[in-house]
Amino acid sequence: MKIIIHGGFFSESDQSHEVKVAKQNSLKSIAAQAFEYLKSHSAEETVVYVVSLLEDDALFNAGTGSQIQSDGKIRMSASLMNGQNQKFSGVINIENVKNPIQIAQVLMKEDDRVLGGNGAKMYATENGFPDYSTEIPQRRKEYEEKLKNGGKGTVGCVALDQNGKLAAATSTGGKGFEIVGRISDSATVAGNFANEYCAVSCTGVGEDIVSNATAAKIVTRVTDGMKLEEAFGKTFTELKEIDGFAGAIAIDHHGNIFHQDSYPTMVFASYDGDEFEIFD
Ligand code: ASP
Repeated sequence: MKIIIHGGFFSESDQSHEVKVAKQNSLKSIAAQAFEYLKSHSAEETVVYVVSLLEDDALFNAGTGSQIQSDGKIRMSASLMNGQNQKFSGVINIENVKNPIQIAQVLMKEDDRVLGGNGAKMYATENGFPDYSTEIPQRRKEYEEKLKNGGKGTVGCVALDQNGKLAAATSTGGKGFEIVGRISDSATVAGNFANEYCAVSCTGVGEDIVSNATAAKIVTRVTDGMKLEEAFGKTFTELKEIDGFAGAIAIDHHGNIFHQDSYPTMVFASYDGDEFEIFD
């Protein structure tokens, strides 16, 4: 059993020591809870559970604490992929729900598994998810100051369960100040991808991640025989060629854990029951 989680990148305005320590403590505690949960749940159930905890933590830009778009509204995106059956589900630009990743989870049983905008919200309501505002005063303040602080934020989790099955989940409040209708990478196979060999969750500039096809490319390379480290190396070299900004976390079917970023402030934690690795 293995678990790795991320909470996006540090934003320039977030660099204070207190925020860093708060993020470290939160990720450490969530990684420990994740590992405990993984003992009696599948990888798919665990990544949803963990991403829900991250969405509920206002320190991170997903669910509660999401960024506000250019028209003053919050629209969130999240996706889930089960490595075993290769099913992918997601919601794109959903408004007024507490945990977008849980709606992605319910969508797993549908033939139509990725829903956007109003349709996604209608589906959430039909499935018993109440209206919920994920806005916090700090994001409103940033929005009002039109302070595009350059902070990238998303949350993600990759897990390998005791039956050797992999899953990945990713959830985001987006970049902030987006043109209405902009699509994030987080509910695409560029931002979140898994098969039986490898699972990956990304954060960073969605447009760069989509151009680079980051998660799908890393997983494909590992499937074709590359080591995790090589697959990351090649993919991040290609990302650099387009001046891309991204970070990614992964686990392969042997239980190897890996992470890399193009700008060294990705916030992450991993735990294998023995040792924590935490960003510094
Ligand atoms: N990837 C997310 C997006 O572009 C944002 C982020 O990870 O910071 O919507």
